[in-house]
Amino acid sequence: MSSKLWSSVLMLGLILSATTLAAAPIKALIIDGQSNPYHKLPAVTVESKKILESSGLFTVEVATSPAKGQDMSGFQPNFAAYQVVVLNYDGDPWPAETQTAFEKYMQAGGGLVVVHSADNAFAGWKAFNEMIAVGGWGGRNEKSGPYLRFRGGKWEAVDMPGPGGSHGKPRPYVVTAREPSHPIMKGLPKEWLHVADELYDRMRGPAVNVTVLASAMTDPKTGGSGEEEPVLMTISYGKGRVFHSVMGHGPDEMKCVGFIVTLQRGTEWAATGKVTQKVPADFPTTTETKVRN
Ligand code: ZN
Repeated sequence: MSSKLWSSVLMLGLILSATTLAAAPIKALIIDGQSNPYHKLPAVTVESKKILESSGLFTVEVATSPAKGQDMSGFQPNFAAYQVVVLNYDGDPWPAETQTAFEKYMQAGGGLVVVHSADNAFAGWKAFNEMIAVGGWGGRNEKSGPYLRFRGGKWEAVDMPGPGGSHGKPRPYVVTAREPSHPIMKGLPKEWLHVADELYDRMRGPAVNVTVLASAMTDPKTGGSGEEEPVLMTISYGKGRVFHSVMGHGPDEMKCVGFIVTLQRGTEWAATGKVTQKVPADFPTTTETKVRN
């Protein structure tokens, strides 16, 4: 065989393997089993699974922990078998072995997605709080860490008195992109209107290695802090990547196309460090919400 033919064969092989790689689904694991009763299970898991699968990019499995107060010692998901873990869990602490295994998985380059209810979890787990940057409730207070505050066009960790997690009355709110060139945000509008949802404010945590991708102004008239509050964040933890969205109180709120698209893109990014998805035509605008049923 001529060297020219060999190089053609080699090129074809490269193209085929690249195609195979691109087509291989991303393995995602949703973890649930316990949550605050306001954050309905299993509806949030069902909706999350549907959203991820509808992108065509993921295969999704679910690991459900024992119920609250039950023996958790056998709850040891094989994190390393997945490229990304989507946390829909807020409940009893995991066994020490499971916590250590998860920290190792993340340190080694794992992916984590934390949505709304899950940033209420594990107030006493130091590494988890580093992974999510800031969280709320569960006994979080001034000792849990500073607030993230938008000052002079950039985000600062600010120590000041106040609660560790709060939200005003649910209402539609405008999300403002703060890092438009980040792969998760690229191509999204500068602002869009999210459906009526709880807008978390005054969350606390270590707030290190965090990038605020998008924020929203909370209205003090409806019980908010009167500040720009982070709504989409990425955090680096060791070699691991974390995508944190505070949106998505329940299945209705999760039908917002802005929520759907950022969850799909954020999960792909947490798994691979890249986003290959196009921005859909039905993305919300500054004045009009969009939902998919
Ligand atoms: Zn909620």
